[in-house]
Amino acid sequence: MIREAGLRATPARISVLQLVQGATSPLTHADLVEQLTSNGSDASTIFRALNDMTDAALFRRLDLGDHVWRYEMAMEQNAGTSPHPHFLCLDCGVITCLEPVDIRPLTKENRELRKVGKVTEVLLKGSCSSCQEE
Ligand SMILES: [Zn+2]
Ligand SMILES: [Zn+2]
Repeated sequence: MIREAGLRATPARISVLQLVQGATSPLTHADLVEQLTSNGSDASTIFRALNDMTDAALFRRLDLGDHVWRYEMAMEQNAGTSPHPHFLCLDCGVITCLEPVDIRPLTKENRELRKVGKVTEVLLKGSCSSCQEE
């Protein structure tokens, strides 16, 4: 996949890709550093690998409003990796990937919403089911 994206398949890029691909929710740079520094990758190498693979459209970079970038798979041909909304639990901070949704039909009714240009991130916030039970 890395070579198909036009990059050299370095060990750091391969480990980063494996972790992001295997993750059930978007990962931060800190998450990856925590898991990868034990096998010799340093934080700046991991950061560069994330940037390179985001530029090469392997990853999508999310800004969920807390000034922390998170990364997830972005390849359109993989099922479940097309752009989709995210749910952020304000109590525990867990992020859940939601089903892809086309929000354009919602904008037809309301003239004000014609001002909306390209939407890059849809974010829902609230309490996740386990936090709500407490
Ligand atoms: Zn929660
Ligand atoms: Zn996601």
